[in-house]
Amino acid sequence: MTPLRHDWSRNEIEALFDLPFPELLHRAASVHRAHFDPAEVQVSTLLSVKTGGCPEDCAYCPQAQRYHTGVEATKLMSTEAVVEKARQAKAAGASRFCMGAAWRSPHDRDIPKVAAMIREVKALGLETCATLGMLSNTQAHALRDAGLDYYNHNLDTAPEFYGEIIHTREMQDRLDTLAHVRDAGMKTCSGGIVGMGESRSQRAGLLQALANLPAHPDSVPINRLVEVQGTPLGDAHTSTLLDPFEFVRTIAVARIMMPKSMVRLSAGRETMSDELQALCFAAGANSIFYGEKLLTTGNPDTERDMALFARLGLRPMQIENATDHAIDACSTTVHAGITAAA
Ligand code: SF4
Repeated sequence: MTPLRHDWSRNEIEALFDLPFPELLHRAASVHRAHFDPAEVQVSTLLSVKTGGCPEDCAYCPQAQRYHTGVEATKLMSTEAVVEKARQAKAAGASRFCMGAAWRSPHDRDIPKVAAMIREVKALGLETCATLGMLSNTQAHALRDAGLDYYNHNLDTAPEFYGEIIHTREMQDRLDTLAHVRDAGMKTCSGGIVGMGESRSQRAGLLQALANLPAHPDSVPINRLVEVQGTPLGDAHTSTLLDPFEFVRTIAVARIMMPKSMVRLSAGRETMSDELQALCFAAGANSIFYGEKLLTTGNPDTERDMALFARLGLRPMQIENATDHAIDACSTTVHAGITAAA
């Protein structure tokens, strides 16, 4: 077993990125096998319970109200409607259900509404996950008391590149929210987005910031920028600069640094070839988003996913008491960028 570390230096991480590609994949695959069955992939889905109209300015996000992306702002769904979706997810084999809302942070008046959703989803026998933006300590405890198991909040990018992407909140705000989530006893889901024009060293910086948190996130979503017309990054066409092999390297280094975390392919998967996804699985990715929609961007349809699993000899990961078709309806991409919430 690889010991968990929280003291990674930038030089060490860059040295991993610089390894010959086969050597990097070998090391990552070895770490993967030490902690997981490499034939299993966790499958996640997500319900956007409140879409668009966000006051933040994340340069990749179609849900920011200041950008003209055609995303229509919606009100918070009713508890009944959310519970019906959760029932459907459970009937399809889900063991965990994630609710995402495009908020900078929930108002205190929103918390009882979300808490009611969490309680009712939990009563169905599902694990619960949410991504609602920044949380205060009090809000985190209230959500935990309602039965929330997981909370997603992404760091997005390296600290030194962060100011190029977001101006309406600080990296420290994100770290504070993750601390509140941990303090409340919930599990964390946190990752970032690559292909936004950052350097390799800055990609290393994102992974450094994640791995050197007091606890590794339980899930680490690695999003590849989805260029959405109307957003600053969508109009700048920066993602064309990211070499697919560089994306695989990022996955492999994340696996080596955070050996027990679920490394998740999230937004951007719909533009990846089957071959690229296969390389990501070989490099230690063991979780994907599954379904038609990833909040406001597309996702490969489920038939293509299952066909790819069959071709690669992979199977959906069983989650605790879940069935053969276990689907983890968890978020991860939402506010982390690209799609939905903060
Ligand atoms: S990523 Fe989240 S916080 Fe940023 S604009 Fe989109 S919904 Fe708002």
